[in-house]
Amino acid sequence: MVSGGVIRSPEIAYELIRSQQADFVFVGRSLIADSEWVNKAREGQAEDIRPCIMCNNCIENSFKGVATDCTVNPWVGRERLHCPSTSNSKNTRVVIVGSGPAGMQAALSCQRLGLQATLLEKEAELGGMLNIAAIPPFKQRIALLRDYLIKRLKENRVEIILNKYCNAEELKSIPSDYLVVATGSKALLPRIDGWDDKFCWSLRDILNRKIELQNKRVVIIGGGRSGCELADFLLINRNRITIVEAREILAAGMEKKNRRDMMDRLQNGGVIKKTSSQAVQIKPGQVEIENQNGTPEILAADYIVMAAGFIPDNELYLSNQEQGKPVYLIGDAYGIGGIKQALLQGEMLAQSIARISCKE
Ligand SMILES: Cc1cc2nc3c(=O)[nH]c(=O)nc-3n(C[C@H](O)[C@H](O)[C@H](O)COP(=O)(O)OP(=O)(O)OC[C@H]3O[C@@H](n4cnc5c(N)ncnc54)[C@H](O)[C@@H]3O)c2cc1C
Ligand code: SF4
Repeated sequence: MVSGGVIRSPEIAYELIRSQQADFVFVGRSLIADSEWVNKAREGQAEDIRPCIMCNNCIENSFKGVATDCTVNPWVGRERLHCPSTSNSKNTRVVIVGSGPAGMQAALSCQRLGLQATLLEKEAELGGMLNIAAIPPFKQRIALLRDYLIKRLKENRVEIILNKYCNAEELKSIPSDYLVVATGSKALLPRIDGWDDKFCWSLRDILNRKIELQNKRVVIIGGGRSGCELADFLLINRNRITIVEAREILAAGMEKKNRRDMMDRLQNGGVIKKTSSQAVQIKPGQVEIENQNGTPEILAADYIVMAAGFIPDNELYLSNQEQGKPVYLIGDAYGIGGIKQALLQGEMLAQSIARISCKE
């Protein structure tokens, strides 16, 4: 008997065999995320396995007929570009601002390639947006990815400075040969008449539980992936939710299978979908929307949450152009691209810096 499917941890694989529910266990996606899965499991190093987050990007690629790559493993499909660890005798110092996946991966890759990396973060904890992305239902595996990256940073003795807000002035006092800006994104906040902080909140505030909504009528403005995940999260506390989305469908760019599962949950939770519609005015207790034909409608709402998406936060990059040293921009701060893009750019940039600094 061979068993498999969503077996992600060696403990579960072992338990299946120990309890004689299976003679063999197979792993699929987990081997894409970490080709050393089996060896690490055998050697009792389960916590060193790079976790698959079950995003299904790899499966979607094969349905599309394009080469496989992996959200959490930047070397999949680029194995020949993978540079092993090297030592750089020139003590090249790379300062990286922002500890989301882009900054953490850049720091790890720099350290592996013999560069001295320093990671600066304005918050008290590492992880950036991964800390929020892991909160909605079925997203907890993102926290495993965050913890894996943090563990690797500590094992590799990357210098980490938390609670350090960086502006151009501040960075002048920190010696570095290269500066990497990985400051992520800012929430897109379209101006809507009547916005009032007493009952209007942002996605980030709600997921961070700055306010606990229970059994309330909530209108979410923005039905992209994160707006829909927010609805999924708010359903836990029996809130009655309406999503207003300008496009024709919700979570348009999301991977198909995960999207279908989430849409089923929203449907079962009674979420009302107002697609091809825009919020035009907010008043206490209501939101006025208009559909594509200009037909108005009033939605009752105790709370309104803005989830209209994110835009790159590249101010630090722009304000550092005059410092006379190379400055690079990666991750969402370069262009909103998600975890895959952030990790890949972190790795590729470190390789470029290692190559340039060797030639100098
Ligand atoms: C609810 C939700 C769910 C998501 N789910 C997914 C998903 O399933 N898959 C996916 O691919 N993506 C997902 N994302 C998006 C993903 O989290 C981001 O694309 C990714 O984290 C971007 O990484 P980054 O390193 O570029 O920036 P961020 O993760 O945003 O990190 C930027 C860091 O820079 C720090 N910083 C900013 N300015 C300064 C400064 N001046 N000084 C010092 N530090 C600074 C910030 O505090 C932050 O820690 C989700 C996002 C949300 C909100
Ligand atoms: S692409 Fe996503 S689902 Fe596929 S192996 Fe990588 S993390 Fe797992």
